[in-house]
Amino acid sequence: MTPKYVYAFGGGYAEGDASQKPLLGGKGAGLAEMARLGIPVPPGFTITTEACIHYQRHDGAYPDGLREEVAAALARVEELQGRRFGDPEAPLLVSVRSGAAVSMPGMMDTVLNLGMTQEIVAARIAAGEDERFMRDAYRRLLTMYGDVVLGVPHREFEAVLEAAREREGVETDPELSAAALARVAEEYERLIETQTGAPFPQDPQEQLWGGTNAVFDSWDNQRARDYRRLHHLSDDMGTAVNVQTMVFGNRGPQCATGVAFTRSPATGDADIYGEYLVNAQGEDVVAGTRTPRSIHPDEHGRGGMVEEFADAFSELRAVADTLEGHFRDMQDLEFTIEGGKLYMLQTRTGKRTGPAAVRIAVDMVAEGLIDEREALARVEPRHLEQMLAPEFDLEERAKAEAAGNVLTKGLPAGPGAASGRIALNAERAAIMAAESGGGPVLLVREETSPEDIVGMHASVGILTSRGGMTSHAAVVARGLGKPCIVGAGELAVDEGTGEVRAGGQVFREGDFLSIDGTTGEVIAGSLATREPQVLRHLLDGADPSPAAEAFTRVLEWADGQRRLRVRANADTPADARAARALGAQGIGLCRTEHMFFGEERIALVRSMILASDAAQREHALELLLPMQQADFEGIFQAMEGFPVTVRLLDPPLHEFLPHGGKALEEVARDMGIDPEQVAEKVAILSEVNPMLGHRGCRLGLTAPEIYRMQSEAIVRAACVRQKAGDRVLPEIMIPLVGTEAELARLRTLTAEVAERVQREEGVELDLLIGTMIEVPRAALVADRIARHADFFSFGTNDLTQMTYGYSRDDVGRFLPQYVEQGILPFDPFARLDPEGVGELVKMASEKGRAANGELHVGICGEHGGDPHSVEFFDQVGLDYVSCSPFRVPVARLAAARSTLGVGQGGED
Ligand code: ADP
Ligand code: MG
Ligand code: MG
Repeated sequence: MTPKYVYAFGGGYAEGDASQKPLLGGKGAGLAEMARLGIPVPPGFTITTEACIHYQRHDGAYPDGLREEVAAALARVEELQGRRFGDPEAPLLVSVRSGAAVSMPGMMDTVLNLGMTQEIVAARIAAGEDERFMRDAYRRLLTMYGDVVLGVPHREFEAVLEAAREREGVETDPELSAAALARVAEEYERLIETQTGAPFPQDPQEQLWGGTNAVFDSWDNQRARDYRRLHHLSDDMGTAVNVQTMVFGNRGPQCATGVAFTRSPATGDADIYGEYLVNAQGEDVVAGTRTPRSIHPDEHGRGGMVEEFADAFSELRAVADTLEGHFRDMQDLEFTIEGGKLYMLQTRTGKRTGPAAVRIAVDMVAEGLIDEREALARVEPRHLEQMLAPEFDLEERAKAEAAGNVLTKGLPAGPGAASGRIALNAERAAIMAAESGGGPVLLVREETSPEDIVGMHASVGILTSRGGMTSHAAVVARGLGKPCIVGAGELAVDEGTGEVRAGGQVFREGDFLSIDGTTGEVIAGSLATREPQVLRHLLDGADPSPAAEAFTRVLEWADGQRRLRVRANADTPADARAARALGAQGIGLCRTEHMFFGEERIALVRSMILASDAAQREHALELLLPMQQADFEGIFQAMEGFPVTVRLLDPPLHEFLPHGGKALEEVARDMGIDPEQVAEKVAILSEVNPMLGHRGCRLGLTAPEIYRMQSEAIVRAACVRQKAGDRVLPEIMIPLVGTEAELARLRTLTAEVAERVQREEGVELDLLIGTMIEVPRAALVADRIARHADFFSFGTNDLTQMTYGYSRDDVGRFLPQYVEQGILPFDPFARLDPEGVGELVKMASEKGRAANGELHVGICGEHGGDPHSVEFFDQVGLDYVSCSPFRVPVARLAAARSTLGVGQGGED
């Protein structure tokens, strides 16, 4: 049996359904499902993705039987509509729409009004139909077909139209008369003929297949391929083609076209949200050329669809409810009203901002639409990341206002704050963003289009002067999680002169602008940012908001699901408190060297390092000890009842020393020695390759008094807190171990100090001594090392650096190209490399546990806050990950999603 290539829908019936997305594409599956639900969908049919793949693989040849199946499906539509394709008496007009399995906004092209010909235009006008409408429909077909199918640049058609507006002395296209449109159509026909060497096809069948081929071909166009590459989508899926009876939102004042979301895609508010344009067709809303109106009345209770299209509006609400209940998720809808009657043209799962994703998931659980696990599967780590992104500092904002720098306000389409050098087109944005050291780039345009996708990716935010909340810029920015403002009408963007004018100021490429995608404000210059609202709420209990409450709820559910524990990397009591507030179950890495940099301390540290004899060094260390101890007391207190892993000194001593000039003289004066002597000592300590030099346990073994002092400070602090009634779980961690003997010796040293101090304090602690695994050799001999360790903590930054042999501080020179060219699939310092570094982690943890059944195993590198890496660590059975406090919520969710096996979500 040959496969079926065509699936009919419409008239309360459909051959396909929502489960057939891979075959029918998202659009086709949605249309079929809506038809089955009895929702008013103009009838049509879907040509499958399999037909597209066949076409791609056979140089544009159709599979056997396709033409016949299409003819039969078309006949069915003709029957339902009582119209015939190409019939001048009762012509059927159709759209040809692409639709891949994965929604690729604006990537593929759509042609409307197919089936229109000169003959039909003339016949319908002669029969008394609205001449202006007929001429408009025909000239729209010429534009879209000319652009999409025949490759005549869109701007050439625009130029003709602009000339017509000027000639007629009108501002907008709807004001153009029938006669003017007739002339426009003639000029379009000439344009097509001169540019392509052939006249526009007057045969509807030729138009239909031309449109179908164009959709098939568009699967392989540059921007579609770019999009798939950016989103890691396969090139082998193909796109379906939907052929659908036209309905007209541009047939007079009783007609309109619009887009709606069943809930707000920006905030998640549980009310239908949408925009529409009266007397307009399809693309007008999305293209952002006219700024549409909200479907709801304004703040004075005026306007809105309720007023203009009461019946269609209540039907739209009912459809929205039906679809949301059916799909159990927020839907993004396209609709058209013709002569007051509502038609649905598309439904799909709506893209949403981070705050909206969280709100919608939590509300839907409360409404009984989904359960907690489903909610966790829908809230992706990137959604939380977006809510944790900084916002503008209020004081800075006030200063900008006072200075007259708050330029204008647009529609807040994507939340968050962004400042950047402006680029007026996407290509420049991508180039500027790639320049090293240039800083962030903000893309500023009249409106964006699918060609801009790469530049939008490269920018920190997007600002457009036109368009509504459902314009291309808004939808894509939301998908990318970038701050975005659209429809900032007072902004004049002139790509030609390279100028942006607003609030009486002029900006050129490279000048800084700031956008607040939460409020819609456009501000001159670059502004400092502050913690986002959610964080302030979690840290200080400030400003409870529905978003913050929903955020907390989702994380509680995540905690109920996950196995993997999450700790934080924190060096100060303040960090430790933040870590707790964000749900950390301990500190996985407390770096002691940061404590050495305080005002009064660095001098002591320097005199310790530069000491000419043991007595002088002991003296400095004695003075440092109480300071370190006080730090640890604060941290233990903040982390009451949770483990705290303190790493002994790790960086090369050289990092603490002054490098010439005034600082060097000061040190010499403080120590009462000759500056030259200091300079000499600094020179002696300097290393060719300090990251691989005298640091970590190598320092602990050659200058044992340092580790002794630190161990004493840790243990004493723990004793003090335990005596004060706190439950304390200290863990001492030895860095950079590569051999068994290194750890064996340092364990003995540390344990001796610990025993002595506990004896002196009369306290018995639950103390663990362990090591970081960050040198590849340590991973290889992990069984031997585990004999001397109570715990392992993978230091995946160094482990990645040493496994690849890439200097972490110099990768900027080649790593971006490696990723760009696909030599590496991603930056291994940002996401753990599962094959190489991950294999070491897995092997070392297995070997370690086999040798020591009590061994605790965790990770404390940057990877601890990366969702995909967290999933890897969960899968290989580590006990915990540790990451920066602000990543803790993300790691909690990622761990839960790993348990649930739902992946970590995409970026689109
Ligand atoms: P996209 O994937 O870019 O949204 P669509 O296929 O949805 O492309 O079509 C683009 C525009 O044309 C949309 O606004 C859609 O509603 C409109 N449109 C498509 N088919 C029809 C039709 N049969 N009747 C009226 N409008 C249509
Ligand atoms: Mg489109
Ligand atoms: Mg669409």
